[in-house]
Amino acid sequence: MTTIDIAGNLARTQDRIREAARAVGRFEDDVTLVVATKSVDSERTAAAVQAGALVLGESRVQEIVAKAPTLAALEEPPRIHLIGHLQSNKVNAALRHVSCIETVHSAELARAIGSRCEAAGRVMDVLIQVNVSGEPSKSGVDPAAAVDLALEVAAQPCIRLCGFMTIGANSLVEADVRAGYAQLRQIRDAVVGSGEPGTADALHLSMGMSRDLEWAIAEGATIVRVGSAILGTRPRP
Ligand SMILES: *Cc1c(COP(=O)(O)O)cnc(C)c1O
Repeated sequence: MTTIDIAGNLARTQDRIREAARAVGRFEDDVTLVVATKSVDSERTAAAVQAGALVLGESRVQEIVAKAPTLAALEEPPRIHLIGHLQSNKVNAALRHVSCIETVHSAELARAIGSRCEAAGRVMDVLIQVNVSGEPSKSGVDPAAAVDLALEVAAQPCIRLCGFMTIGANSLVEADVRAGYAQLRQIRDAVVGSGEPGTADALHLSMGMSRDLEWAIAEGATIVRVGSAILGTRPRP
């Protein structure tokens, strides 16, 4: 197995974020790097944290639970964002381990999260996942329904709507990918601009991955989720 220079890759990714932000007159501190450690083993995940990753992106609750003891033993345990599909029977386990659920795509799921949070006496940060590309392989609410869903989620007790997330179009055409990211930004602006209850904090835009974070930052990303550029190519699940 080839060794992967996680610390070097992390530094290079942070450089890319800085350059991309500067290029469009933004501050690098306004963009949070979520290191997508899903399907990377516990040791390599821990190595990413030791190299300076503050927030990890994980796709599966089971994997988060499996890695929890290793991560809890670290000097500075990371925060974890859930970036994969959440089944309602895994909500309680997710609440124990994650600081943000980026993949809320239905009012039903938001209600399940809200009622469990209420029972546990806590508040959960969530993002609404929107399928801006319309690719059927991707989950997320249809853009046309995103504003209504966001208003409904924002009004839920014990949920803090923090913004929106999308997986960009599977395309190497900059204009096509950026059009989707611009659409997410417009949805965000409509929701925050509505002044409806619970919408004031819905400012985040989680968009951009290893290959296109520059395009996402140019369109206003405040969170980029980067896996392979830091950790190498993932094994097929
Ligand atoms: C894996 C994953 C990423 C990271 O993708 P890379 O191309 O490896 O950077 C980002 N977002 C989501 C939702 C993912 O599942």
